[in-house]
Amino acid sequence: MKAAAKIWSRSEACGFRYTTLLSDGDAKTHKFLNSLKIYGPDVEILKEQCINHVSKRLGTSLRNLVKDWRAKGITLGGKSYGSLKETTIKKLTQYYQKAILENKGDIQSMKKSIYATLYHSISTDKNPMHMKCPPGKDSWCFYRRALAKGENLHHISLILEHQ
Ligand SMILES: [Zn+2]
Repeated sequence: MKAAAKIWSRSEACGFRYTTLLSDGDAKTHKFLNSLKIYGPDVEILKEQCINHVSKRLGTSLRNLVKDWRAKGITLGGKSYGSLKETTIKKLTQYYQKAILENKGDIQSMKKSIYATLYHSISTDKNPMHMKCPPGKDSWCFYRRALAKGENLHHISLILEHQ
C-alpha cells in the first residue's frame, strides 16, 4: 500500500496520472489510494480486475465449499451425476469467465448471463432450467438451440412456463 502511494504520488510530477488500478483481488490498496485523494477530491481512481483472478476465485470458493461440507460429513464432490466434482468446478469457472467477458461494461447482462450458466448447469431432463439461457438457433445452450429449430424436446411446456 505504501509503495503504491509513493508511485501514485509522484506520477503528476512526471506529467501523467494513474487513473485505473489493475487489481489482483486485493481491495485494500485501491481503497487506500482513494482515501489519500492523490489527484484531488474529484478524481477517483478506478479499479479493474484481472478476469483470470476473478474466475480463479470462483473455483477456489467452490473447492473450499466442498472441503467445508466434507468436514461436516456431507459430500458435495464425489463421482455421481450432478456432484460438484473437479471437472464441474472447472466448467463452471469457464462459463463464469465467458459470461463476464462477453458482457463487458454491462452489469445487468453480465449478471443475467452468469445466472444462465448456473441454471443451465443444474438442469436435468426432468427439471430443465434453461429459461435464462439465450434463445435462438445460435445459442450456446443445446436446449434452446433445439427449441429454436423446432426439434422434439421433452418438457418444453416447463421452459415456457418459466419465461
Ligand atoms: Zn441452457
